[in-house]
Amino acid sequence: MPCWKSKSKSYDTKSEGKQNSDSNYQRSSEVKKDSKRINGEAKSDYDYDLVVIGGGSGGLAAAKEATNLGAKVAVLDYVTPTPLGTKWGLGGTCVNVGCIPKKLMHQAALLGEAIHDAKSYGWQVGDNISHSWEALKDAVQAHIKSVNWVTRVELRDKKVEYINGLGTFKDAHTVQTITKQGERLLKARYFLIAVGGRPRYPDIPGAVEYGITSDDLFSLDRAPGKTVIIGAGYIGLECAGFLVGLGYEATVMIRSVPLRGFDQQMANIIVAEMEDKGVKFLQKSIPKSVEKLDSGKLKVTWTNEAQQEFSDEFDTILFAIGRRALTKELNLDTAGVKVAGDGEKVDAVNEQSNVPHIYAVGDVLYKKPELTPVAIHAGRLLARRLFGNSTVNMDYENVATTVFTPLEYGAVGLSEETAASRYGEDNIEVYHAYYKPTEFFIPQKNIRHCYLKVVALREGDQKVLGLHFIGPQAGEVIQGFAAGIKCNLTMNALMSTVGIHPTIAEEFTRINITKRSGKDPNPASCCS
Ligand code: FAD
Repeated sequence: MPCWKSKSKSYDTKSEGKQNSDSNYQRSSEVKKDSKRINGEAKSDYDYDLVVIGGGSGGLAAAKEATNLGAKVAVLDYVTPTPLGTKWGLGGTCVNVGCIPKKLMHQAALLGEAIHDAKSYGWQVGDNISHSWEALKDAVQAHIKSVNWVTRVELRDKKVEYINGLGTFKDAHTVQTITKQGERLLKARYFLIAVGGRPRYPDIPGAVEYGITSDDLFSLDRAPGKTVIIGAGYIGLECAGFLVGLGYEATVMIRSVPLRGFDQQMANIIVAEMEDKGVKFLQKSIPKSVEKLDSGKLKVTWTNEAQQEFSDEFDTILFAIGRRALTKELNLDTAGVKVAGDGEKVDAVNEQSNVPHIYAVGDVLYKKPELTPVAIHAGRLLARRLFGNSTVNMDYENVATTVFTPLEYGAVGLSEETAASRYGEDNIEVYHAYYKPTEFFIPQKNIRHCYLKVVALREGDQKVLGLHFIGPQAGEVIQGFAAGIKCNLTMNALMSTVGIHPTIAEEFTRINITKRSGKDPNPASCCS
């Protein structure tokens, strides 16, 4: 008998994440009442214990965990083609058009840089190094197809029913879908909305006809050529970074600030580094129109802050201006689920919507980090609460992340500006340092932007509030320190940690200069 039916405790409720606040607890006990009532109904009232709408990071994690706990689960996944006609298989954004192809293209660009560095390390490399977009695109797409396949097999092995159809609520307990076999109505005890999001297009002439988004880029049949990237969030900067690394001209159009939501000092260092690498930036500019010229080139017109108009010709226009949650298609009104903010996102408490048996995880959630591990972790914990008698909730605080620009930026915790506004400038201490990665010396690589900082409380042991790192492998550097932050890392603990030499991560253990002191944060020597 599945553990959730026998009511046995199968998960430790003490150790992980934050427990319910009082108000959340009330919501949680309502679910318990509701689930008891539902348990009392004849089992045949529902076809499934859980129907998941959206087979991406969050939905699949929840589905697999729920079946592990004995629940009967179906996952609906459907990809609406882009205006260019691009579509993809099971697995959601991360696998198909997000983290994975992005990281592979970033790696391709880094390898190009490494080939040049190799010469100074004694490798005999010819002068005519060239790169094939087609070969890279094919390799990336082949990997994605293999992940799609493995995902399908995994669902079949776990006996999760996969339905390739667009899910729409018909009422609060029924989801309707159309498959190749015709209409299906799925009744479930619980529903999980895990529909994620898709890129937005600006409302300007020619945008949809001639522009592309990250949904098209990683499978683009032709080399992108001279590209303008409109939007300077992390997706825009990452794409610009690997395009320039692969040898294409890349221009980024910024409406307001780069990397909104990230520490702005670090964001501006990233922009400066990318400029050094050859990316052009159009500051405070807004696109007005896109038109196709007889030459086949795309003419983009934009205005700057002073309303002056400019234009240039490009081979590719890539919009990276933000993403919209795919809730409009769900008929949420019919189910009574309320949306928040700009009217698209589900405002859930512990992933539970205002309709007690309808939950949401991942990018569709209001004011939660839009990251794959966040969606996966929340999905898994939710399944354990629904079917494993767990009471452990997702902790959305202090989630580490990395921007995979040519020089990467990894961060966890608060930015300097958020820490200052939350605690007051006088109550925080900011430690910072420039550093020289050992491997940069021989190829004489630019070290101007290798920088890190730690934001801490000023009093007592100086609890660490945020860690920020710009340099190679920043994600690998930050991940371990994120665990430290979970364990209430202090500056005392950081400074008494013995580093691993010669690494770049050890810079966090060497850091000792505060911004307040005004001392020079540039490195004196490598080994003292
Ligand atoms: P998704 O993975 O988007 O899955 C939702 C699925 O539901 C999709 O397959 C969708 O087609 C389907 N669907 C939608 N509506 C319906 C419906 N009505 N019926 C049936 N199916 C439906 N995150 C990181 O952590 N690290 C990174 O480096 C990173 N890089 C990224 C790079 C790019 C270019 C992009 C776009 C995103 C990146 N992300 C990254 C974000 C990450 O991909 C998302 O946070 C994550 O995929 C969200 O998972 P999800 O389960 O909420 O939704």
